[in-house]
Amino acid sequence: MMPGVNDEQTPARSYDRSSAELRPCTIEPGFMRTATGSALISMGETRVICTASAQESVPRWMAGQGRGWLTAEYGMLPASTGERKQRDATRGRQDGRTVEIQRLIGRSLRVVVDFEALGERTIYLDCDVLQADGGTRCASITGAFVALSLACEKLQRLGRLARSPLTGSVAAISCGVIGGVPLLDLDYPEDSKAEVDANVVMTGEGGLVELQTTAERTPLSRAHLDELLGLAEAGIARLREVQEQAIASATADSSEHSPA
Ligand code: UDP
Repeated sequence: MMPGVNDEQTPARSYDRSSAELRPCTIEPGFMRTATGSALISMGETRVICTASAQESVPRWMAGQGRGWLTAEYGMLPASTGERKQRDATRGRQDGRTVEIQRLIGRSLRVVVDFEALGERTIYLDCDVLQADGGTRCASITGAFVALSLACEKLQRLGRLARSPLTGSVAAISCGVIGGVPLLDLDYPEDSKAEVDANVVMTGEGGLVELQTTAERTPLSRAHLDELLGLAEAGIARLREVQEQAIASATADSSEHSPA
């Protein structure tokens, strides 16, 4: 087991992990052949399909400027949660949480895109939660980056992009405080009893993109905030490795299959 923070105080965790460990994380690249780029990310029991689809136009308010755009949508399948969640289309509107999460995903991914290099096209990122066990917005961001990278590589292979519009990588992880102990990557049972719940988005170079922290029961001390950021930074470095492996394996696969 990896050395964690305050190991002697760490409550029992899923996968018998320490306070500083992620749940088992896998990213299956190219999960959907119909999308320009896709990935299925699993963080423990949380599973999200992320796709990137390119459209050869931009919203009307951006036309003629030589720049592209990227936007994201997020949804949970009805059976992704313990109690069936009604589809937005049946209810007739999206809930506030969905809107907040898809804006976060879009903002996070836009940080690593050079829109001039993308040219006048729009990338749609769709993140659909198959199974939710906490941390779905973070898994969406981490998986969406892989889908976006694969889409950009494909557009380059097809000669539709002269150079990659990606300026870096981005990933996200949740963390929180339970019983005074800072923990990385909360699952749902942990999330529902956390005193403090945080979502951290960082670039592969360690630049902070977004930090959302909510103290629900007891205020967060500065010392704990620093500890949470330290846990998140190490977790994101590990996620970066998983992203790189997924992208590399998909790239090797597509060059094997493309004509010489
Ligand atoms: N959840 C649920 N139904 C909902 C919203 C959330 O069952 O309508 C569960 C789900 O497991 C989710 C967790 O609550 O992953 C935490 O939700 P939160 O809003 O904090 O977002 P997340 O941690 O998934 O980004």
